Amino acid sequence: MATRFLIIGGGPAGNTAATYAARLGADVTVVERDIVGGAAHLLDCIPSKTMIATGGAMSFLRRSTGMGLEQAVAGVDTEALTSRIEGIKSHLQRGTTELLESQGVRMIRGTARFTSPHTAAVVTLEGTETLEFDHALVATGSRPRIPEWCSPDGDRILTTRDCYPPKEFPKSVTVVGSGVTGVEFVHMFSSFGADVTLVVSRQQVLPSKDPEVAAVLEEDFLRRGVKLLKGARATAIERDFDGEATGDTVVVRCDDGRVVRSTHAVLAIGSIPNTSELGLDAAGVEVDAGGYVPIDHNCVTNQPHIYAAGDVSGKLPLSSVASMQGRKVAERMMGLHAGPHRHLDYDKAASAIFTEPEIADVGLAEAEAFASGRKIRVTKVPFSGNPKALINSYPQGFVKIVSDPATGVVLGGSIVGRHAAELISVIALAVTANLKVTDIVESLLVHPALSEALAEAAE
Ligand SMILES: Cc1cc2nc3c(=O)[nH]c(=O)nc-3n(C[C@H](O)[C@H](O)[C@H](O)COP(=O)(O)OP(=O)(O)OC[C@H]3O[C@@H](n4cnc5c(N)ncnc54)[C@H](O)[C@@H]3O)c2cc1C
Repeated sequence: MATRFLIIGGGPAGNTAATYAARLGADVTVVERDIVGGAAHLLDCIPSKTMIATGGAMSFLRRSTGMGLEQAVAGVDTEALTSRIEGIKSHLQRGTTELLESQGVRMIRGTARFTSPHTAAVVTLEGTETLEFDHALVATGSRPRIPEWCSPDGDRILTTRDCYPPKEFPKSVTVVGSGVTGVEFVHMFSSFGADVTLVVSRQQVLPSKDPEVAAVLEEDFLRRGVKLLKGARATAIERDFDGEATGDTVVVRCDDGRVVRSTHAVLAIGSIPNTSELGLDAAGVEVDAGGYVPIDHNCVTNQPHIYAAGDVSGKLPLSSVASMQGRKVAERMMGLHAGPHRHLDYDKAASAIFTEPEIADVGLAEAEAFASGRKIRVTKVPFSGNPKALINSYPQGFVKIVSDPATGVVLGGSIVGRHAAELISVIALAVTANLKVTDIVESLLVHPALSEALAEAAE
């Protein structure tokens, strides 16, 4: 009998595991309470990037003086933008569903909960079904973290998921949280023309990133008129209904006494895993203090037949990582590539921040190497001398490559500038495959192209 594999959650982790496991011969069932494609397609990556694309186009037009264009920056057509977002989401959802169907995966629309180490109950519109499994994957993702000092109302006080698009475009907005999501929302709303204030709890936006990279973004924010409230932690967000006030103003209070007023506020202070309603205790699966499911190198939980992947695993909360974990789970479960060389190396995951300029990095960062005392060679080339960047009228940013001075092996890199998220794939490939800087230098690249800066930086 084929291995019965139950997957709870149809996001990138769940649907990738399902596709590969089915291809390898498993009898796969995916239970998804919402849409296949997961929060990644429905609520997070895809809608946020679609909004950023429209905002980015507006901002590019505003900035592209000197390109021989009549400057005509249109306003936002909210209806057209909404239907574009919905169109892209349903196109992707259809593609994922068709792929799963073509592999013979059974899909159930419902909410699953473990009832024992080998059974789960699935509640659907038709009733409750009990499923037995040999192996299971917990891939239930995460949701925005909402602190006790704030009650989002979906109207003026928003979580990131209320923004695609918001009911009313903010005239002014205070973004709380200066990590990746926070800065993307600053970029998005300032591109749409809002006055934006960013509450930054430390002294640097993107506190976990290379200071040089963060500085370029801060400079851009300040040039656009974004106000940075550094060293401040929000302690309350409320609508102002006092006296004559109508609630059109949102007040954000900070621990140092500073107060910001704007028409809207957006909370972007991280996420929490969807594990509390899953009956994990009935399956004997442990969770940590934060509700995440600890896993080993193979995404196996403390129960050898139950895996966890994606945001619930508490590793890098990225769609790309979730998909790769899903693939590894399927391969491991079906007895393929079980050796340590197939383990996922989270330190080699490329990531991007879709701001203007775009920021992307992979592997070892300069500051990290410095802190650990590791000897590295760092080479950096600005886009200001790159012909394609000049043609594009976007010469901001740079390429930085970190390599081993003794062997020339590429250890990491960062790119700031237009199309950084695409360009980083060259460095990511080099890091994953242990390529040397000379391998990049000797590639015959296109001219004129932004990628020429990569070859120069690798020199
Ligand atoms: C604003 C924002 C922007 C982002 N942008 C990017 C980006 O550009 N690039 C990137 O790589 N990552 C991005 N991310 C992160 C990315 O969205 C997540 O890392 C990714 O969605 C995780 O995938 P997953 O499979 O773990 O979970 P999800 O995509 O969250 O899918 C989990 C699924 O499980 C379902 N589910 C939960 N509980 C149950 C249950 N009991 N029964 C049945 N179904 C259940 C949910 O309905 C959901 O569909 C972004 C995140 C945010 C918040």
